Amino acid sequence: MSDKKRTRWQRRPGTTGGKLPWHDWRNATSWRKATQFLMLAINGYIGVTFYYWVRYYETGGASLYLPRPGGIEGWLPIAGLMNLRYTLETGFLPPIHAAAMLLLVAFMLTSLLLKKSFCSWLCPVGTLSELIANLGKRLFGRHFSLPRFLDIPLRGLKYLLLVFFLSISLSMPAQGIQYFLMSAYGIIIDVKMLDFFRHIGTITLLSVALLVVLSLFIRHAWCRYLCPYGALLGLLSLLSPFKIRRNARRCIDCGKCAKNCPSRIPVDKLIQVRTVECTGCMTCVESCPVAQTLSFSLRTPGGETGKRHGALSGVTMALLVLGVMFASVAFAMLAGVWESPVPEHLYFRLIPQAGAIGH
Ligand code: SF4
Ligand code: SF4
Repeated sequence: MSDKKRTRWQRRPGTTGGKLPWHDWRNATSWRKATQFLMLAINGYIGVTFYYWVRYYETGGASLYLPRPGGIEGWLPIAGLMNLRYTLETGFLPPIHAAAMLLLVAFMLTSLLLKKSFCSWLCPVGTLSELIANLGKRLFGRHFSLPRFLDIPLRGLKYLLLVFFLSISLSMPAQGIQYFLMSAYGIIIDVKMLDFFRHIGTITLLSVALLVVLSLFIRHAWCRYLCPYGALLGLLSLLSPFKIRRNARRCIDCGKCAKNCPSRIPVDKLIQVRTVECTGCMTCVESCPVAQTLSFSLRTPGGETGKRHGALSGVTMALLVLGVMFASVAFAMLAGVWESPVPEHLYFRLIPQAGAIGH
């Protein structure tokens, strides 16, 4: 039956037959965008306050002091992985950068439950990459994609990077990890990361510029081909009980779900979307014009068993992804490990010498 022939009650309320009505607050896209911009604002705040915090110690206390934002630990996934091994091996919370591990665990948990939702709901890099892709579409009128023979092997690159980072993060025993993270380098590993961006080399800058240009043409080029963090979360997402599920009997084969999927997944041909590339963005669900046909759920929608199919709405999804993250922050605060116990005099000594540490 064609989409046009569907009677009014058969259409999903709030859809516009495939156009994405993201301006409607009831839609998942509205909640996803609100969550993304909240996370972008939080990360902007973290970046600015962390910069001023570092400057305070660099200038020997002569500049404006802003407290160190604990959320900077979310930008230290390697320290997080090292500390995860430390905790699994010793049974104790790590003595330093414990928040990096707790945030990493929170993001891993969201993937275990809700597909790779970190990428499309929380990650600021994912959000920027989406904004660049939207700009590209405005400029060129369409997104481009690589032919399959290039796309498939290139998607493997992020797993090679993941293996590399896992091998450097997990190769040390717990004692070695403690020794490394409590060394001068380990204590100011966050300052070293800031310095990487402040004193960015020509080759890195050119690579970033190339990636930005590429992302104008190819949607989510970084996430799809290179991001090792997304690769890790994607592998965990294979265990997610929530998946995009399609009721083939109700489906009218309009193909709108597949056409709008930013990960180019052939949703219209699948009963369940299991792939590591699904980010739980729910764009396909919103694109579907037929009620009870496509959902991000525990069971197939529109079944005849009378069982609820456990579909997630946009607002539930936003509450869940943010809830898991803030629960991890609250746990870290209650356990007294949100801040690393580094005495101030050590920061006064180490931060001005950060450039020389580790060389
Ligand atoms: S299948 Fe649906 S939820 Fe998954 S990435 Fe594509 S549009 Fe998003
Ligand atoms: S599941 Fe996809 S192909 Fe089927 S009706 Fe919905 S949007 Fe169209």
